Amino acid sequence: MAKFIYFFGEGKAEGNGNMRELLGGKGANLAEMTAIGLPVPPGFTITTEVCTEFYKNNRNYPASLKAELQENLAHLEKVTGKKFGDEKNPLLVSVRSGARASMPGMMDTVLNLGLNDKTVKGLIEKTGDPRFAYDAYRRFIQMYADVVMGMDRDLLENILEECKQAKGVQADTELDAEDLKKLVVLFKEKYKETLGQEFPSDPVELLWGAIGAVFGSWMNHRAIVYRKLNNIPADWGTAVNVQAMVFGNMGDDCATGVAFTRNPATGEKYFYGEFLINAQGEDVVAGIRTPQPINKEGGASDLPSLQEVMPESYDQLVKIKDLLEKHYRDMQDIEFTIEKKKLFMLQTRNGKRTARAAIKVAVDMVKEGLISEKEAVLRVSPSQLGQLLHPSLDPKAPKEVIAKGLPASPGAASGAIVFSAEDAEAAAAEKRKVVLVRLETSPEDIHGMDAAQGILTARGGMTSHAAVVTRGMGKCCVVGCSDIKVDYQKKQFSNRQGEIFKEGDIITLNGSTGEVMRGAVPTIQPDITGDFATLMAWVDKYKKLGVRANADTPKDARVARNFGADGIGLVRTEHMFFQGERIRAMREMIMAEDIEGRQKALAKILPMQRQDYYDIFVEMKDLPVMIRLLDPPLNEFLPQEDREMAELAEIMGMPLPKVKAIAEHLHENNPMLGHRGCRLGMTFPEIYDMQVQAIIEAACELTRDKGFTVVPEIMMPLVATYNEMHLLKERADKVAAEVMERLGVKIKYMVGACVELPRTCLIADRIAEDAEFFSFGTNDLTQTTYGLSRDDSGDFLPFYVEHNLYEHNPFISIDQTGVGEMVKIGCERGRKTRPNLKIGICGEHGGEPESIKFFHRIGLNYVSCSPFRVPVARLAAAHGALEEEMKKG
Ligand code: PEP
Ligand code: MG
Repeated sequence: MAKFIYFFGEGKAEGNGNMRELLGGKGANLAEMTAIGLPVPPGFTITTEVCTEFYKNNRNYPASLKAELQENLAHLEKVTGKKFGDEKNPLLVSVRSGARASMPGMMDTVLNLGLNDKTVKGLIEKTGDPRFAYDAYRRFIQMYADVVMGMDRDLLENILEECKQAKGVQADTELDAEDLKKLVVLFKEKYKETLGQEFPSDPVELLWGAIGAVFGSWMNHRAIVYRKLNNIPADWGTAVNVQAMVFGNMGDDCATGVAFTRNPATGEKYFYGEFLINAQGEDVVAGIRTPQPINKEGGASDLPSLQEVMPESYDQLVKIKDLLEKHYRDMQDIEFTIEKKKLFMLQTRNGKRTARAAIKVAVDMVKEGLISEKEAVLRVSPSQLGQLLHPSLDPKAPKEVIAKGLPASPGAASGAIVFSAEDAEAAAAEKRKVVLVRLETSPEDIHGMDAAQGILTARGGMTSHAAVVTRGMGKCCVVGCSDIKVDYQKKQFSNRQGEIFKEGDIITLNGSTGEVMRGAVPTIQPDITGDFATLMAWVDKYKKLGVRANADTPKDARVARNFGADGIGLVRTEHMFFQGERIRAMREMIMAEDIEGRQKALAKILPMQRQDYYDIFVEMKDLPVMIRLLDPPLNEFLPQEDREMAELAEIMGMPLPKVKAIAEHLHENNPMLGHRGCRLGMTFPEIYDMQVQAIIEAACELTRDKGFTVVPEIMMPLVATYNEMHLLKERADKVAAEVMERLGVKIKYMVGACVELPRTCLIADRIAEDAEFFSFGTNDLTQTTYGLSRDDSGDFLPFYVEHNLYEHNPFISIDQTGVGEMVKIGCERGRKTRPNLKIGICGEHGGEPESIKFFHRIGLNYVSCSPFRVPVARLAAAHGALEEEMKKG
């Protein structure tokens, strides 16, 4: 019979750290920590398999689960010496979620379960503290009503507020045992009034309720959003951990805290964390009270530290964190509770960190001999690396600091102030940049946090929800900014000077210093030296795939080179035809009525094109440059509005009706499948002749005058037939030969195909008879394989993704089963004719990590992506190679 529950306690565990898939991250690590002798409160983990079954079977549990739960409860009672529902010595448990990948704060938790009118007396007897016992009881009722029964949270919160008002006090802590006891009665009355049933008193019934709520929370809205954002499959499911309660809120010799074995924002090697005295676990993360630092390292706050207040527990904690880091060989994020001076470990997991910290920790751990270079490369996620490649605030730019908070997640962000997640999302839909300002954030805000440029909160510490989530997102965030007073009603905040900042006002955040500034402050380029360079050198050692850049200007080419590109994989020449004089000459060419007219206009464009290529070749020096000949339909170069047409008519000395007639003639209903790509080159060969001439002349001049070895790669777009490729190649060779002959310089060059149509993949063996390289244009290939318009799918594509009709947006990450298969077929057939055929891709997928790994696996030579994505692509390529190596063992 399948085993659905794994016990841990008393130094022994049925599970272990390698069982994440079954026990979830938390359950696996609780088992592992127990087994290595750490003080972990005993408990058991209900497996993720139960969650999967639960959803498969209409929210029913496997039949054998009930008996297994009873057995494990009995075991837990034995180990703790307490009894569930006992009046004298009650066992209380926490019920928590724990998926394979950590999803902080996204799912539900129930604490203090096991309390009822009888057991609360036992708790008083055991602790001698009626206030504590009734506080735990009323918290439990609130949590259960909200989390398990879905009752409006405010209903009970209002009763609590009324009670405080009646007594004339501010804080919950000022209520005494009698007040809290009364609250319990009032809460239960409200519960019955609202839900039409008594608050349950049977602990086993309560336990099943809580377990059901945690499994149920796997499908709540915020968990679904979080999974989408982090690519976590819905069928993984969550485990449920039931664990004996320990209390950090039994008095001033109790505490609870969260710590990282290294600084998760910078990666610096010192023990870093926060705690609260006399508090329960969630209080630290929820950001409701401002926590104290665990020690005084790294410019911690002035509040007394754990090291000062509870030195023995601190020393024990330091030993444990050293042991955990050695054991897991990675930076750990730990949760602990101190109950009456006794330390308990509640959780450990690999800590989420910023990209900067990820690199520093990885490089440091190699130096410390903890991990290998390969492991270090795998420790930094390619998608996260993008954070570092974007600008930060220019330190020399003038700035007016209006407030200061804690630097929770680095980077810089400017935008208009909004005060709700909904407003942030609405603004992003209109492409407006906003900064989301909140008292504190909660998991419900996740969609707004995703939409905003940056997040500012008035409350909360470095481990608050806002801090943890933004770090994972790579989004700039300042938290705990008590300098500001937020007024949601008036949609404004004020600072200490009493200045008012309203919705829509622009502010800038510096997530590395915690500063909040007025207006938009200019930014500077990122630093890619130091640890970054060290890691990237390892990356290059292990990657097999080349990484080129899509660059149309010398400036883009320089960025690409600085970011370590192996060459240019796509120069979209059409972009060169739009500025000033050029567009006029281009229009002249389009308007020309015969070959002579066209040639005359093209002769004006030729020197400009030559200079463009020359400048790009100079930037790239000895690296390869692939240039694609004109691709878009000609009408894209014509003005659309009447006023502009009239202007053009005047410049061209042509009657306006004639200009309009030509424009109308060039209009196409379906231009993406019309007169574009090499079809232009076939019908107006003089255009491609001019481009080839310009390319070869620039390369010859550089070879002759500067001793460069430029090997231009000339790419024919949208090739669909053998004849097209054959004739285009023949003609390009002829022009190149004439140029070389005329200039008396001989250079190497290549002519190849941009493979963007299914037909081209299917007849790739024939195409490769002439094409000396392939570059897959996966944007068009996705469009043409799916029959899905690149331009018109924006409205319905999100629906398809949301309803799992498409696994993801195929224009972002390559559709491996369909479009990817086309690429594979194209490679195989092309290489049948030409075994050494050089193959790359130049669509947007060239910068997307999952796609890059796929292209590595199917044996491409390189990917090409936007210049800023080059380091991301290099890292993803290394991941592809190392993952393959690991698979082969
Ligand atoms: C492509 O289709 O993938 C491509 C690179 O060309 P473009 O995006 O310019 O059509
Ligand atoms: Mg294309």
